[in-house]
Amino acid sequence: MSTKYVFVLGGVVSGLGKGITAASLGRLLKARGYSITMQKFDPYINVDPGTMNPIQHGEVFVTEDGIETDLDLGHYERFIDENLKKDANVTTGKVYWSVIQKERRGDFGGGTVQVIPHITNEIKSRFYTNEDDSKTHISIIEVGGTIGDIESQPFLEAIRQFRQDVGPENVAIILVSLIPYLKASQELKSKPTQMAARELMRTGLQPDIIVCRSDYPVGEDIRAKIARFCNVPPENVIENLDVEYLYELPLILEKEHLADVACRALSIENRTPDLADWTAMIDALKNPTSTVTVALVGKYTALHDAYISVVEALKHGGINSHTVVRIKWVNSERVTEKNAEDILKDADGVIVPGGFGSRGIAGMIHAIRYARETKLPFLGLCLGMQMAVVEYARDVVGWEDAHSAELSAKTKHPVIDLMPDQRGITDMGGTLRLGAYPCILQKGTTARRLYGAEEISERHRHRYEVNNDFRDALASHGLCLSGLSPDGRIVEMIELPDHPFFVATQAHPEFKSRPNRPHPLFKGFIDAALAHKKAR
Ligand code: GLN
Repeated sequence: MSTKYVFVLGGVVSGLGKGITAASLGRLLKARGYSITMQKFDPYINVDPGTMNPIQHGEVFVTEDGIETDLDLGHYERFIDENLKKDANVTTGKVYWSVIQKERRGDFGGGTVQVIPHITNEIKSRFYTNEDDSKTHISIIEVGGTIGDIESQPFLEAIRQFRQDVGPENVAIILVSLIPYLKASQELKSKPTQMAARELMRTGLQPDIIVCRSDYPVGEDIRAKIARFCNVPPENVIENLDVEYLYELPLILEKEHLADVACRALSIENRTPDLADWTAMIDALKNPTSTVTVALVGKYTALHDAYISVVEALKHGGINSHTVVRIKWVNSERVTEKNAEDILKDADGVIVPGGFGSRGIAGMIHAIRYARETKLPFLGLCLGMQMAVVEYARDVVGWEDAHSAELSAKTKHPVIDLMPDQRGITDMGGTLRLGAYPCILQKGTTARRLYGAEEISERHRHRYEVNNDFRDALASHGLCLSGLSPDGRIVEMIELPDHPFFVATQAHPEFKSRPNRPHPLFKGFIDAALAHKKAR
């Protein structure tokens, strides 16, 4: 079959969970036997979110092939259980960058370069990349922001043209919109959604399906009104209420017939979905038998979305053991040697995730020391591993000034240092060590037992690494270098043999965890936290 395209657009306000709605539809279509891919088009001008502050924009997600992307791609991968590629996140910055480079090369033959057709053609060419993959049946494409935004206009115009190019029967447009509730008059209001649909129609696009985000059941009246004013059949107005368990949304939207109407809009066979595994996973999630508390110690705790893949991977880690993972958010700037015990004593495990810069570093080191000394399960990710090495070098090896060269220029013991191929790099965007790299796990280590394999692969995002000049001293003082790059040059994982669970990795394993396939390190960490809780 020729590739079918679903465009997911937002009306009234942003932050409606469009990405999760789109990802849920992906899961429902995959459950019908279709092969799915997803893309996110972000109208902002940054080339990618790699240089953005996590407090403003949330986590930077990294793909296998090493592209720094919007966090919605993490939702897509977790819901559709497919690895997305570098074309999966396109920004206005990328589009203009490419057009301007072509102009400089003289590719436009002296013509005036304009939004239409040059920018819109560039956008359309990015939609088409999914057709290169002959396996793809359905491509679900989300456009960030809302349809009224000035930055969105070239994208909407590109979709309008694209629909004509590939034929309207191959394209479905979904408008995800807000139905606000007025407390004073105790009623839901459909007018903002009608206005959003009208705004969309002004660009020449008719929504096929309208997904209503609402705090209360939408009811037949509102449904009929939206259907009438927005030119869609009432069954194509789908209710999407807040859910307690994110991963339950596909099952709820299945009951709302979202995928049924999408199949009809795309003129494809509506097969019976196989959602048995997903349903079993939700059952386990909704029927927990125990709870553990994990202290997440980091400096971006003001915005929980800054750690979204870590949070989701922790949740996944508890699914098999029917364990709810409660997160205790700990701003590392508040942790001192004195209060570390008070802050962490009720936790069953400590996790220190990735980060950049020196703010909050001391608190991370205090938290790691507390976990090491009290045998509290600890998982360190990227910066978390680097700080575990610094802590060990200071307290066990005895180098009091040990530090990462990123954080101290003066230290005589830069146990974490800039990677050789990072020297001389001045551009900040897209220049870290990014994407999937292999790692060999040493025999007899916790990591090897958990992964059940000698060679593994994880995604990375860093500039610094364990300094090989100090490796022998660290190892001879008992730090196990449990994972190395295949050439032996890069320390990818460390652990402590005389601790119930003290494991840290230079990689970001959280990016590969899926609800239906929890990541072994996170599963091992939650199991250890559970054992720690029981032994108290
Ligand atoms: N700042 C550290 C580095 O660049 C760690 C990066 C991270 O945690 N993602 O190596």
